[in-house]
Amino acid sequence: MPTEPETDYDPELGRKFIFVTGGVMSGLGKGITAASTGRLLKNAGFDVTAVKIDPYLNVDAGTMNPFQHGEVYVLKDGGEVDLDLGNYERFLDIDMTFDHNVTTGKTYQHVIEKERAGDYLGRTVQIIPHVTDDIKRRIREAAEGNDVCIIEVGGTVGDIEGMPYLEALRQFAHEEDEDDILFTHVTLVPYSKNGEQKTKPTQHSVKELRSIGLQPDVLVGRCSDKLDIDTKEKIALFCDVPTDAVFSNPDVDDIYHVPLMVEEEGLDQYVMEQLNVADEALPAEDRENRWRELVTQQTEGEVDVALVGKYDLEDAYMSVHEALKHAGLEKNVDVNVRWVNSEKMPDHHERRMREADAIVVPGGFGTRGTQGKIDAIRYARENAIPYLGLCLGFQLAVIEYARNVLGLEWAHSAELDEDTPHPVIDILPEQYEIEDMGGTMRLGAHETDIEPGTLAASLYGDSCTERHRHRYEVNPEYFDSLEDAGLKFSGRSGNRMEILELAAAEHPYFIGTQFHPEFRSRPTRASPPFVGLLEAVLGDDPHGVDAETEVSH
Ligand code: GLN
Repeated sequence: MPTEPETDYDPELGRKFIFVTGGVMSGLGKGITAASTGRLLKNAGFDVTAVKIDPYLNVDAGTMNPFQHGEVYVLKDGGEVDLDLGNYERFLDIDMTFDHNVTTGKTYQHVIEKERAGDYLGRTVQIIPHVTDDIKRRIREAAEGNDVCIIEVGGTVGDIEGMPYLEALRQFAHEEDEDDILFTHVTLVPYSKNGEQKTKPTQHSVKELRSIGLQPDVLVGRCSDKLDIDTKEKIALFCDVPTDAVFSNPDVDDIYHVPLMVEEEGLDQYVMEQLNVADEALPAEDRENRWRELVTQQTEGEVDVALVGKYDLEDAYMSVHEALKHAGLEKNVDVNVRWVNSEKMPDHHERRMREADAIVVPGGFGTRGTQGKIDAIRYARENAIPYLGLCLGFQLAVIEYARNVLGLEWAHSAELDEDTPHPVIDILPEQYEIEDMGGTMRLGAHETDIEPGTLAASLYGDSCTERHRHRYEVNPEYFDSLEDAGLKFSGRSGNRMEILELAAAEHPYFIGTQFHPEFRSRPTRASPPFVGLLEAVLGDDPHGVDAETEVSH
């Protein structure tokens, strides 16, 4: 876990803070609403960052089960965080750090550590002011160096866990200038049976907010359609905001269209006016337009990609899915992801996998569904189907090759079969001594050196810096025999194998990465191995010249 800096905050710096809370129920997409607002402010020339507050007692998301919570997103500094931070990184095209995720576990741990160290000089340590002060400090520090910081409070107003945060925000607003703070509240506007948009849930939720001393400046109604003017007027009247402070956020097919929707409603303009920065915004014609161009372009063709995983919950593979979409934006095709459950192979899921144009085996932990994934990799390798293996998908490609090409029948990963006679994937040396489950992995951004003339070099150039999250890696005892048998390790980090591939003569596109390239993929900057996968399907040979070194092979 990255260490936490405690720096001095300069209150004179003119930062703007947008707090985003949610009402009625969770899962309304307030993170996407917030990230979309941020994207528009960024297009208008502002430096924007974000903080996600998760009011749970876990210190970080690293120990959380992706089946319940969705994927664990990994930051460049190795922070393991909620997947919403991935959305902020993708929408704002920024790299965040671990201190942009504030959790109750982290905050309390820090306060208790300070208490044990005697830093509170014998005083009674309390939620107010000690915990709330720590929360405010974290927000201010995370905002440093930016014009605008968006702070999303996870959960719903009224949750017990969220109370210290809302109190901290109330104090925060009290301490800052009025025009430096904006409260946005996202609520649900359901339809009644007779087709009427109902505002009562919004009214109740705003009442709850006000009872803790917070008055929203902006209200965003999540509804299947746009809010009618009558609905907006009613919300405005009951919640004490002007009608033009009420915005709709209707359902859209693709989350990347939300910034366009929000812009159409004028939310960004209203926010800039309230924060008194509208005059500093770039004129409309000079604003960044690439996002709009990409997400509204007319696609030509479709590619079906089988994502062979173990979970039925699609959020468990959110960043992989997004990275495939980004590659689709770059290649101007629609990417249809076929969710293939490797535990249901062989069966109809195997057919779904075989009918796809390309196969991806993403990261994972534990033995469930392993054989189905290995079968999928074998199928891709033997039938010239473009294949991308990510972390576990890289390790299983090594195992598949060792078994079926090298003839090491019981080859396996020591993680998945302790007694294997051929542990081609084994624990990282530094892991032998560690027993604690939190914070034991190789995490975050590390550089990989790439061999010129390889497929990896044509994708990345002579090196890449991608994010990691693993405990196991290729066992050095098997490097030579695997390479002699034709499995090329084209990317290395010291003695660690980072990228594997098959030669162009053997396969159109067979590549695996020990790292997770999906975490650095952005809508406006697709990740090279994902773009290569689509190129192989579309018949543009990704084994071209080296991306940067221009060495032909
Ligand atoms: N379970 C494997 C390891 O720990 C792979 C991890 C992953 O796919 N993120 O090395």
